[in-house]
Amino acid sequence: MKKIISAAIAGIVVLSSAFAKPDKGKEDSMYRLNPLPYQYSALEPVLDAQTLMYHHDKHQAAYVNNLNAALQKEPNFNHKPALVDLISDLDSVPESIREAVRNNGGGVFNHEFYWNGLTPNKPEIPKILSEALCQSFGSVENFKSQMAAAAVGVFGSGWAWLCLDPSTGKLKIVKTRNQDTPMNCSCQCAKGLIPIFCIDVWEHAYYLQYKNLRAKYLESIWDIVDWEKICRRYCAALKDKSILM
Ligand code: MN
Repeated sequence: MKKIISAAIAGIVVLSSAFAKPDKGKEDSMYRLNPLPYQYSALEPVLDAQTLMYHHDKHQAAYVNNLNAALQKEPNFNHKPALVDLISDLDSVPESIREAVRNNGGGVFNHEFYWNGLTPNKPEIPKILSEALCQSFGSVENFKSQMAAAAVGVFGSGWAWLCLDPSTGKLKIVKTRNQDTPMNCSCQCAKGLIPIFCIDVWEHAYYLQYKNLRAKYLESIWDIVDWEKICRRYCAALKDKSILM
């Protein structure tokens, strides 16, 4: 059973039952590393166990630790308990730690969103989602190639996102740099968009397996997309601008 745990900016709400939030009873200001939603080897051969282990246990863990370390430097900052609210409202974060919260808070959110959009189960694309993709991109294949092109085109490190534009009801592809998210990206093209799927194109996401061949990683990733989850996220975003983890 999913429940609403927070309300973010611009009426965006987050639906989640498993989302990084402060540890209760330990220290109120601590965020935690949630476990992967599947085993390290579950996404093979597209993403191997070593890639997932390093990506989750080392890279994502470092974002969690660095986020907590930054927040501890400002003990008087009474930050928002839900991570998505914290990173969506960076103006409320003390300037001394704002950049660290942007980068590391984004790093935690983006990775959880990424893992939760992948699955070893090879679901079919639900009709409601394939129709939405066709309406916005002409066809599902067009969507895949435009998303891959956006991801290949991220200069340096960053993310490609499929989002709903609630003002038009259409789906849109955007890119963010570093660990920015559509909710805090300074680029105006992401303003007000609700994320429903993302692809990590930092080298650490694919380099152990694909080396410099980012395009090959992007060709393969479609075999592990959780289309049912993406569809649920699409429906939640459409219904009330919710971000479903
Ligand atoms: Mn990553």
